[in-house]
Amino acid sequence: MIRFADRMNLLTGSEIRELLKLTAQPDIISFAGGLPAPELFPVEGMKAAAIKTLEESGEAAMQYSTTEGFPPLRQKIVDRMKAKNGIQTDIDHILITSGSQQGLDFAGRVFLNPGDVVLMESPSYLGAINAFKASEPKFVEVPTDNNGMLMEELEKILATTDNVKMIYVIPDFQNPSGRTWTLERREKFMEIINKFEIPVIEDNPYGELRFENENMPSLKSMDTKDLVIFLGTFSKILAPGYRLGWVCAEDEILEKFNFIKQGADLQSSTVSQIETNTFLEMNDLDQHVAKIKEVYGKRRNCMLKAMEEYFPKECTWTYPDGGLFTWVILPEYMDAKELATQCLEKKVAYVPGGSFFPNGGHENTFRMNYSNMPEEKIEEGIKRIAEVIKANLR
Ligand code: PMP
Repeated sequence: MIRFADRMNLLTGSEIRELLKLTAQPDIISFAGGLPAPELFPVEGMKAAAIKTLEESGEAAMQYSTTEGFPPLRQKIVDRMKAKNGIQTDIDHILITSGSQQGLDFAGRVFLNPGDVVLMESPSYLGAINAFKASEPKFVEVPTDNNGMLMEELEKILATTDNVKMIYVIPDFQNPSGRTWTLERREKFMEIINKFEIPVIEDNPYGELRFENENMPSLKSMDTKDLVIFLGTFSKILAPGYRLGWVCAEDEILEKFNFIKQGADLQSSTVSQIETNTFLEMNDLDQHVAKIKEVYGKRRNCMLKAMEEYFPKECTWTYPDGGLFTWVILPEYMDAKELATQCLEKKVAYVPGGSFFPNGGHENTFRMNYSNMPEEKIEEGIKRIAEVIKANLR
């Protein structure tokens, strides 16, 4: 008999991955994945960047490189974080990772022993829950409302819970809820964190995709005690296929991430890094992001309008200012998983919300993605989901 590590008992294939297999059929209207719109990928621009890279520095691009990552790309990340997130840093504080997902995996390994406590928003990103699970922690969920994490609850939990080793948050256009923390919550959060001195993972893949209103300062930009570890990524502003993200943290912390990276994969793909850097030299990323925002903003409007028109009054949902998702709350007696099966019969899909709560419950919720479907399909899909919800009303 093959004997596996105990931690494997905690890891099961994600239900969402199974669901996504079904939704890959071409005639399904899928709001399930968190996929960017592929028709917006800058294929031509990347092709030109790839040719230039291979012609001018093909050998370097195919060679091993440093664990930290390609310095010119790290410099561009530093400049971008200053402009977009108000973060003052330098390239010595950036580690390139294979997507921000790798940063999450490393965070679990850097901070968590089995049985340690990790705090996160309730609900939170399923990929982070799964990444942290390998370290066998105890998950404590901090309640949230439409303005983000509830600070009185956070303070209470921190005052009464031993062994809290890390707090994981997504303050901008959260996955799955689409919510963004207010400035007041951010300020209060930093005040509490400074008092308890707990490291914070600030995961920010969506911050640049704001359709309206003012940008919020990142937690990292308000960090006076070097407690915040900021995770960024090119996945949603350029393309996820290159698998390029980054960790920004202070020396002592970043060194630990670097050690783990050496053991995990030595470095992120040299060719991805150099081609992306060349693309950024040849193109204006802000212009590209503006195009993405315009399309996603319209799709968001279309989805919210259709929900208002077709969903029964017994449901509520969030009104995101940006990002990729809205979050629907059904009447308590409904099970979004059961309804998902009925929706699949009508060829429409979403992700049931239960998986986003590490300790279970909340089966009457689901996540809707609006970035990946054209407007006609969004309206049609919402109509079909509305029919299913109505048929299940008591
Ligand atoms: N964090 C959050 C909140 C996400 O939604 C995602 C992607 N869906 C990731 C991290 C990982 O993204 P990537 O590894 O492509 O950067």
